[in-house]
Amino acid sequence: MSAKIIKAEVFVTSPSRNFVTLRLTTDDGVIGIGDATLNGRELAVATYLQEHVAQLMVGRDSRNIEDTWQFLYRAAYWRRGPVTMAAIAAVDMALWDIKGKMAGMPVYQLLGGASRTGCRAYGHASGTDTESLFDSIRYEMELGYKSIRVQTSVPGIEKLYGVAAQSQSSGERYDFEPANRGDWPVEEDWDTRAYLRHIPTVFESVRNEFGPELPLLHDGHHRMTPREAAQLGKSLEPYDLYWLEDCTPAENQENLRYVRSQTTTPLAIGEVFNSVFDIKDLIQEQLIDYVRCASTHFGGISPLKKVMNFAEMYGIKSGFHGPTDVSPVGFAAQLHLGLSIHNYGLQEYMPHSDLTKQVFHESLSFEDGYLHPGDAPGLGVEFDPEAAEKFPYAQAYLPYNRLADGTVHNW
Ligand SMILES: [Mg+2]
Repeated sequence: MSAKIIKAEVFVTSPSRNFVTLRLTTDDGVIGIGDATLNGRELAVATYLQEHVAQLMVGRDSRNIEDTWQFLYRAAYWRRGPVTMAAIAAVDMALWDIKGKMAGMPVYQLLGGASRTGCRAYGHASGTDTESLFDSIRYEMELGYKSIRVQTSVPGIEKLYGVAAQSQSSGERYDFEPANRGDWPVEEDWDTRAYLRHIPTVFESVRNEFGPELPLLHDGHHRMTPREAAQLGKSLEPYDLYWLEDCTPAENQENLRYVRSQTTTPLAIGEVFNSVFDIKDLIQEQLIDYVRCASTHFGGISPLKKVMNFAEMYGIKSGFHGPTDVSPVGFAAQLHLGLSIHNYGLQEYMPHSDLTKQVFHESLSFEDGYLHPGDAPGLGVEFDPEAAEKFPYAQAYLPYNRLADGTVHNW
């Protein structure tokens, strides 16, 4: 068995939404797949892989995962960035997939074996008013979710992130896929003061209705300044959140110092990060509680495992980003990692659409609120290129925000 890579192919497909998939084939006929999807900028990564990486893969020993990762990261000279790191992630996942298939083991066994029987997942509830929000929470609980993210409309804001009742031209649920197909992003609006006034009243009513036990989460989507984030964190303390996500932009990691000093509400951050250097200070200074990074945007399983091992020393747990733009391949990759690490926290989970499942055949299970990646060798996801061909790429953009005076704001 020489395990040499003889073919590297890139597939772009759009079953409900766009996905970029890398497929590596070895001379022994073993196939590995990886996720390189960067929502709204998919073709940049597809081109990076096709034009700059594919030819470097041919002839390499597929068994040398760490060496290949370091080669792609360091030999490019231009390090980091979402496009580069999504491309490297796809290679890394595909190599873990191959190694698992060669060993006849699921990837989590290669990562140290299972540390738990299943990975607890959280569902997404949202509503335009209290009644529809309560209905949505009950629905998620009936599906088995034992932790719920709560997003609602805010009086004074017309179109708002994460509220499912808003329609998309694609027909997809907004919170499942906010990227809208077309050649221009949808404009939304934002008013921080209206938001800060309204959200505590929402959590008060949810706690009154559902009691103190149910773990509740909320996503601030990078829209507040550190002081505003501190205000929200403080005002939500009586409602005992499981976490407050992306309370403020974290390109400047110092932003979290002020928030942390002002509130005990647990903080989760990292879905837009693509390197350990983006989160190093946040972990080392214990400024967050949960790592939100996703395998696909963070360079794959290998670097995410390193970060979680680093975070373990500081009592910080995982909360990997898991919307539907992380493909079933990327999702499986982080599920294998989540099952194996000691400091697992919670996994965001949105089941992929039936169309997506026609292209990607998953082996994961979701029962009674817990996910398991399954015991198929490798990542446990099969990619069907013929089915993929039926769904050609369709341009789509994530929305953007403007304030009342026309200023562009964080979406
Ligand atoms: Mg988020």
